[in-house]
Amino acid sequence: MTPGLVTTAYLVSGILFVLSLGGLSKQESARKGNLYGILGMALAILATFLSGQVENFKLLIPLMLGGALIGAILAKRVEMTSMPELVAILHSFVGAAAVLVGLSSFLDPGHAEMIGAEKLIHEIEILLGVFIGGVTFTGSVIAFGKLRGSLSGKPLLLPARHLLNLGMVLASIWFGYEFLQQGHDEAWITLLIVMGISFVLGVHLIVAIGGADMPVVVSMLNSYSGWAAAAAGFMLKNDLLIITGALVGSSGAILSYIMCKAMNRSLANVIFGGFGTSSGSSPGGGSEVEGTITETTADQVAEELKEAKEVMIVPGYGMAVAQAQHVVKDITETLRAKGVNVRFAIHPVAGRLPGHMNVLLAEANVPYDIVFEMDEINDDLPEVDVLLVVGANDIVNPSALEDSSSPIAGMPVIEAWKSKYVVALKRSMAAGYSGVENPLYFKDNTDMLFGDAKDTLSAVFAKLG
Ligand code: NDP
Repeated sequence: MTPGLVTTAYLVSGILFVLSLGGLSKQESARKGNLYGILGMALAILATFLSGQVENFKLLIPLMLGGALIGAILAKRVEMTSMPELVAILHSFVGAAAVLVGLSSFLDPGHAEMIGAEKLIHEIEILLGVFIGGVTFTGSVIAFGKLRGSLSGKPLLLPARHLLNLGMVLASIWFGYEFLQQGHDEAWITLLIVMGISFVLGVHLIVAIGGADMPVVVSMLNSYSGWAAAAAGFMLKNDLLIITGALVGSSGAILSYIMCKAMNRSLANVIFGGFGTSSGSSPGGGSEVEGTITETTADQVAEELKEAKEVMIVPGYGMAVAQAQHVVKDITETLRAKGVNVRFAIHPVAGRLPGHMNVLLAEANVPYDIVFEMDEINDDLPEVDVLLVVGANDIVNPSALEDSSSPIAGMPVIEAWKSKYVVALKRSMAAGYSGVENPLYFKDNTDMLFGDAKDTLSAVFAKLG
């Protein structure tokens, strides 16, 4: 393939990636968006293969086939509830790849032959790639552990943590400066020191971030992984990798900003940690909840639904765990056929992945036009006759608005308690992801329907008939 043709193929791939991102921004076009992405990547791989830059096919092809096989098995096996962990660990691979590309670019014989400005620019690329890649790598591994539950979701706040972070950044700049001045052997050691600092910084940044702010962290790490890939693109002189990395980096940064706004957090605070801190008296932080809970049965809920004109469903992480989306859809269809206005209210951080609930509802073929964002729906809640909270907890917790000592204070929530009648479907009185008790369950207009959401909703559906 001539260089001109390779450049054209890269350009087409780049356009396909832009179209892919555009498609993924809406449910209706998400499938098409995915397809553009797949086409773009297939074209990119083919063009790189035929570009003449790849020499060691014997090593590359088995490695790619092995990687593709692992990817295919993982994609097939992974449960929707484990998707965030998978995304986090995949980000760590991008970070690790950028570090390895940085180290191997430094050791490459071609690097030793470089002089003047070319050498300087290449070494700055190496430094940036190793540093950003290192932070992304260890940060993502910690995020993986937190999302999986192997590490505590609570923030670990060391004294003077901001100073520690600043110290590590300044030390990296200083060692980076030294790296640019030194001869090959000394510079190699210095590069490894920068790598070590970036590893520690990645761990420290992410352990300091608390439970309910993890969604923003996942999208931040997505952004970092993009910049790490772009840095690798500079080192490898691959224009498409630069474009793709920049696309991922900037779209991740925009998503982080949108999620911060939705959660009423400042981006700087999430980056530097400290949110989700327990400050109150109850185990998970926040004030103790007083009052009693009242239980209901599937029969009673079915009766309430039969009487209702306006029904709202608020899905949360528990719907994903129970895989209750299909029975939710069946109930929705039955009620709509009876002339009931059924709508869904989606919180921006419901579940464990941005768009998690939308994906599940789309999978169950719930019509898009009855699915609303939190901001669109909160004002309508007083008119709702029956509101079903299906495995949601933090996103309907009134203490976010009413208790300034709560770790989730200030986070906008779906104000479920404003509806005429609320049924909360969950298995126990266990707290949500942020570990905070939920006063909603103790309100006079709320009843609890305990059990796995798929089982309890199936029982409700059976009685709706
Ligand atoms: P929560 O984790 O707050 O609550 C989920 C509830 O579902 C639990 O209280 C649990 O109670 C219940 N549940 C679990 N399994 C079942 C089941 N089989 N049947 C019925 N209920 C079940 O989820 P929300 O969606 O309300 O809030 C999301 C939280 O996750 C937020 O704090 C958010 O910040 C965080 N987060 C979000 C991410 C994102 O990108 N969306 C990423 C990472 C974190 P019980 O055990 O009693 O059944």
